[in-house]
Amino acid sequence: MSDDLILRLHNSRTRRREVFEPLDPRNVRMYVCGPTVYDRAHLGNARPVLVFDVLFRLLRHVYGADHVTYVRNFTDVDDKINARAAETGRDIRAITDETIGWYHADMDALGALRPTHEPRATEWIGAMKDMISDLIKSGHAYEAEGHVLFAVESYAEYGALSGRSIDDMIAGARVEVAPYKRNPMDFVLWKPSDEGTPGWDSLWGRGRPGWHIECSAMAYELLGESFDIHGGGNDLMFPHHENEIAQSACAHPHGAFANVWMHNEMLQVEGKKMSKSLGNFFTVRDLLDQGVSGEVIRLVMLGTHYGKPMDWTERKRAEAEATLAKWYQVLQVHGFGPDLVRALKAGGDWQADPEFIGVLANDLNTPGAIARLHVLAKGRTPQQLAGFAHALDLLGLVPDWADLVRLAGATEAPAHAPWVDEVVAGLLAKRQTARAARDFATADQVRDVLTAAGVVVTDVGGAASWAPGPDFDAFKLEALK
Ligand code: AMP
Ligand code: ZN
Repeated sequence: MSDDLILRLHNSRTRRREVFEPLDPRNVRMYVCGPTVYDRAHLGNARPVLVFDVLFRLLRHVYGADHVTYVRNFTDVDDKINARAAETGRDIRAITDETIGWYHADMDALGALRPTHEPRATEWIGAMKDMISDLIKSGHAYEAEGHVLFAVESYAEYGALSGRSIDDMIAGARVEVAPYKRNPMDFVLWKPSDEGTPGWDSLWGRGRPGWHIECSAMAYELLGESFDIHGGGNDLMFPHHENEIAQSACAHPHGAFANVWMHNEMLQVEGKKMSKSLGNFFTVRDLLDQGVSGEVIRLVMLGTHYGKPMDWTERKRAEAEATLAKWYQVLQVHGFGPDLVRALKAGGDWQADPEFIGVLANDLNTPGAIARLHVLAKGRTPQQLAGFAHALDLLGLVPDWADLVRLAGATEAPAHAPWVDEVVAGLLAKRQTARAARDFATADQVRDVLTAAGVVVTDVGGAASWAPGPDFDAFKLEALK
C-alpha cells in the first residue's frame, strides 16, 4: 500500500472518526447488508450501493485489488417475498431470481462493481441453524412455541451501537408483543412455517430463519469471527445491526465481529421522504429508462457526503449531466481512450493524484473529491490530465475507455475549415523546428498562439496530433492564413 496515505473512517460504534487499520492488510474484509429481493431497487436503495462501492474501490486502490473481500447478501427468504408470491401466484424462486437479475442489471448500470461474494440467504440455512444451536447451548437463546428467540437480557451490551437501553427501546419501539417472549425486546432467530410457506427442517420443527441471523451467519462463514467494516443504511442500525452484534458477539465471544461500523444517511427527493403516497417514488430503472445515465445518477449521489441526508433534485441531475459532458469532452479532445491510457501507463504517467486520494481517504469525502476533479480537469496535456482521468476512473465514472466518444456526446470531431488544418500543421512544424534548435522562446510563442485559439495538442511518443478543444476559435488563427 502507499506508505503515506492515512485512511480515516467515521465509526458509528465509537462515534468517532478513526484511523483505519485493517486486521490483515492482505485481506481487508467488508460486509454490507443487501436488498430483500421482491421488487426493483428504488433510488434510495442505490445510495448504500454507491457509497460502499466507492469505499470498495478506494480500499482496492490502497491495499491492492486482490486484497479486499467485499460481501453483500441477498435476503431471499422474507415475509414480503412470501406475500408477493401469494399475490401473484408465482413461485418464490422465480420471483427472487428475477429480482436479483434486475438488481444486477440496475447496479451494473450505475457502475457499481460486483462484490466478491453475494450470498443468498437460502443457501446458508445450515450455517444459521448451527449458530442458533450454539446460542441456545450458551444460554443466549430459548425455544418457545416453535420459535427460537434471542434473550436480549443475556447480552449486557445490547443497545450499545444505537446508544439505547432495553427499557428505552421497549418504550419507544413498536415491538411485537408475544406471550412466549420473556422480554418484549427478544427477537426471532427461527420461526415456524406453515405448509404454504418456505421452510426447512430443524431441531425446532419446520421453519425459517429470522432476518438478523442471516447476516451474522453469512458474515461469519465468509469473513470470519472478526472483520474490518460493516456497512448499511442508518435505518438498519436499530434493530437489525444491534441484533447482528448481539448474535455474533454471543456466538463467537472471542471475535470482535465488525471493528468499524459505517452508516449512510437516507435519500430524499426534492426535500421530501420518498414515498408512494407522495408520488415521488421511483426506481433506478425508471430513471435509466427516462434516459438519465448511470454516471449522472452516480455523480449526483456522490455530491453529498454519505453521512448527511441527500436530496435528489432535478436541478442536481441537470448540473451533473452538464459537468460530465464537459469532463468527457476534455478527455476526448485530448485523445483519451484505451490506447492513450495504455501509453500513459507504459510511460509511468498513470498515477493517482495524491490530493484527490487524500480527500477521499478522509472519511470518503466525495464532495471534496469532486471539487478536486474540477481543478484537475484544467490540465492541458494528456500527461497533466492523467491524474484527472485516473480519479474519474477510480470513482467509477468511466464505464469504458473505449466509450468516451459516445459519453462525450461527440458523434464526430467538430467541423472546421480546411485552411485551419494547414495553419495548425504549419504552426506545429514551426514549433518542432524551434524545439530542435533549442529556441524555446519561439516554441513557447507558438504554443501560446495555439492555446489562445483553443487548439488542443497531444504529444505522445514524439508525435504531435491536434484537435479543436471546447474553446476552439478559428477566428484567432485567421491572421495566420
Ligand atoms: P431494504 O431492501 O429495504 O432492506 O434496503 C436495502 C438497503 O437500502 C438498506 O441498506 C437500506 O438502509 C437502504 N435504504 C433504503 N431506503 C433508503 C433511502 N431512502 N436512502 C438511503 N438508503 C436507503
Ligand atoms: Zn444485515
